[in-house]
Amino acid sequence: MKERNWYWLTRMKQVKKALERNGMNAVVARSGEEARKKALRLIPRGATVGLGGSRTIQEIGLLDDLRKGDYRLHDQYAPGLNIENSREIRKKGINAEYFVSGSNAVTDDGKLVNIDGAGNRLAGFCYGPEKVILLVGRNKIVADVEAAIDRVKNVAAPMNAKRFGFKTPCATTGRCSDCASPQRICNLTLIIEKQKPKGRITVILVNEDLGF
Ligand code: SF4
Repeated sequence: MKERNWYWLTRMKQVKKALERNGMNAVVARSGEEARKKALRLIPRGATVGLGGSRTIQEIGLLDDLRKGDYRLHDQYAPGLNIENSREIRKKGINAEYFVSGSNAVTDDGKLVNIDGAGNRLAGFCYGPEKVILLVGRNKIVADVEAAIDRVKNVAAPMNAKRFGFKTPCATTGRCSDCASPQRICNLTLIIEKQKPKGRITVILVNEDLGF
C-alpha cells in the first residue's frame, strides 16, 4: 500500500538523520534484498566477520551470503557446534574486523537499544570490531528509550524465548514479568546514544518488518 510505504520511508529518513547526528552512518533500504546488497558492499572480501544473534540477517539472506562468500566468518550458529565451541567462536567474533547484527530497537532521536542474555552481541557493538553493520527493520523504530525497552521485553524477548524453547514466563504469556528464570534472556541493556569514533557503526534501515 503506497501510504504505508510513504509513512515508513518518511519516518526512516528522519531516523537516519538522527542517527547521523549521533555519529553513526545510516542508509535507508527499500527492501530486505536492497539492504542485503548494501551490507555486502560494506564488507571487503577476506575480512574477518563476527555475528550478533539476529533473526533479521537470517530473514534477508545475509547470513547465507556471509557463509558462502569470501569472508573469514566466525559463525557461532553453524550446525553441530557444542556450547564450548560456540563460546570460543563468539569470543573471536567480538574481535573481528566487521561485526554484523540487527538491533532490538532504534528511537526517533537516533539511539540504539539492545538487551542480551550473555552480552557477546553488546560487546561487539561497544568495542573491538572496526566496523559494525546493523540491519534494522522498520518495526524496530520506536519513540524513545522507554518505548524501546518495553518493545524488547514485551515483543522481542517473548518471541525469542519461544523460538529457543526457553522456559521463561514470557514464552507462555507473551509479556515480561521481570522473571528470575535460569533461562532469562534479558540481563544486560545497552543504549548507544552516540558513537565514537564517528562512522564506526552503520545502520541500514529497511522498509520491511524484519526479525522480532
Ligand atoms: S525478564 Fe524474563 S519474562 Fe521478562 S522478557 Fe526477559 S526472559 Fe521474559
